[in-house]
Parts: sequence; C-alpha cells; structure tokens
Amino acid sequence: MKAWRLHEKEKLSLDELPAQSVGDGCVKLKTLASGISLTDTAMYTGKLPLESSPLIIGRQCVGMVTETGEGVSGLVRGDRVAADPCVCCKTCPPCKANRADECEKMICYGVNDNGFLSDFTVASANALYKLPERITDGDALFIEHIALSINAVSKLNLEKGEHIVIVGADALGIILAQVALYYQAVPILVDTDGESLALAENLGVYYTVNSVDADPMKKIFAITGGKMADCVAFVTTSRMAFGRSLEYASVGGRVALAGWTEVTEEFSGSFSAILDKKLKVVGVNNGAKLFPAAINLLATRTVDVSKLVSREVKFDDVENFIKEQADNADGFILAAVKA
Ligand SMILES: [Zn+2]
Repeated sequence: MKAWRLHEKEKLSLDELPAQSVGDGCVKLKTLASGISLTDTAMYTGKLPLESSPLIIGRQCVGMVTETGEGVSGLVRGDRVAADPCVCCKTCPPCKANRADECEKMICYGVNDNGFLSDFTVASANALYKLPERITDGDALFIEHIALSINAVSKLNLEKGEHIVIVGADALGIILAQVALYYQAVPILVDTDGESLALAENLGVYYTVNSVDADPMKKIFAITGGKMADCVAFVTTSRMAFGRSLEYASVGGRVALAGWTEVTEEFSGSFSAILDKKLKVVGVNNGAKLFPAAINLLATRTVDVSKLVSREVKFDDVENFIKEQADNADGFILAAVKA
C-alpha cells in the first residue's frame, strides 16, 4: 500500500508499505476520498506536536470495504462507508457514564494513530458508517464537522428561538450555523471575510456580520433586541479574538470553543467577561457517536456542504499542497484528495 507519512516536522513522504493484515473487528478499505485539513498542516509545520511517528496523516476517509476481519457484522465487501476519526475506548469513566465525547483514551486517526491518506486502510469496524447513495464522496468528508456541530449545540443546550453568535465562518462555522437553524435557533455568523459570509447567506444563514464593515456589538445588540446572545460558539480555526467574542454573550450565557486545532494567535485579551457575566464555557473537539445523526442531516440536505471543499488535490500532489499551505496559508478549510 502507498501512504503519506509524516516522519517528523516538515518531513512528509509517500511510502510504500507492506499490505496490512485485517485484525479481529477490523475492516480493510480502498480509499475513495480523503481530506487534508488544518490538523495536517499544523502537524507538518510543527505547530501541533506529532504524537506518534511515522504517522499516516489525514483524518477524513470515505472508502469501499474490500475485506472484513473476524467478528465484523453488518459490513460486507463493496459497502461504501465514512470513517469517524475519533474512536472512544468504552472502558474509561466518561465512556461508562455515556459521555463518549469526553473519553480519556480516545484514538484519533490521523493524530495519535495512523490516518487515511493512503490507497488502502484498515480501520476498526466501530469507526465505520455506511453511506446512503445520495451522499457524494466529497460531501461525506464533512460528516465529522456536522457531528461536531451537533455535539456543540447539545453541549450548549441551545433552545428553540435562542440566539447563537458563531465567530468564524469557515466550513465548521457555516455548518454549525446550518445545524443551529435546524434546531430552530437563530444563528448570527461573524467573520472578516465577505466571501465566506456571502456563501453562508446563500445557505440560509440570514444574519451575518462582517466585522470589517460593522461593529458586531452594535449589530448583535440590535438583532437580539438588546439582550445579546444566549450562546456564543467560537470556532477555533477562526482568526478572530476569543476574548472579544465573549462580549457578544448575554449575562449567564453559554460559550463553546469548537474545533480541532487552534490557528488563532488571538487567545490573548481580556477574559474578564467570563466572571463579569457568569458565563459557562465548554470545549467541544469531536462528535463522538454522532456520525449517524450527521449522515441524516447530509442525506436530507438539511446541511449543505457542496461548496465547502476549498481545493481538490490529486493523491500524488499531497506533499506539494501541504508545503504550499505551510508557506502561505490561504485559510483553506478542507481539501479533498481523490484516490
Ligand atoms: Zn473512554
């Protein structure tokens, strides 16, 4: 098999590896599409430490089942599946308490275990979810974003009719806004990039604020009738200031930090609003066990991700693309790699 492996910071190579055996409870997949995300470039540049080495990078995968190991039921050769990169241990106290997303020993493919930028891959059957025909390979790369968004909305206890300010209109922010609409809440999306906000508007997000042109405080004050937002979700890949976003919350408001890796340098600033307004702050970095719910939202077109892939990259061009991004990050969101 061929796999893109990161050996150390800035040392990525396409390695020829012996075929992997398929262990009990595991499934071999032929990769149909995988993704390159900011997690991969952050590990490449050393911004995110490499937890194991060499590491096959890539946390998104759509594949075709080619072989199943002992004890696998419900999946057969030829099935098309998406892989959840986060697999919980089922034995730690949070897992036993049905809080899988807080698992203490979570395996995260592409971060602390081999990911999916390879022609074939072997993954735990527990991590795989069958895809309905109507979901394209490219769209399926965003299932993790949708699952994380559902988890964020749940952790925030977002209620019908409540206002949620979402800071950061990248793929995760735009998907989170669509999920908030599905929950009948009122999203207000804030960013500095007019193009991303226009895309969100096209997808039905009717309150957007370009913080270059307008003061978000004033606009949010007006939209919420002066009470400010019940919830604030700060997308960690946003390049805006986290401290500032706390000001958008009402007294007693709920705040989520949502994402996988922080690219913002703006965690500085005053966090006094947490005390002053008695805010509740939660961190959400996965959508454990929410893949089926996310697949539903995609299959019913409740969440539209069709315009969110920022680049299509050929399998052989992965290194060039990541190098280019490392030198000159254009704020790409997710690049789809076709096998
Ligand atoms: Zn666990």
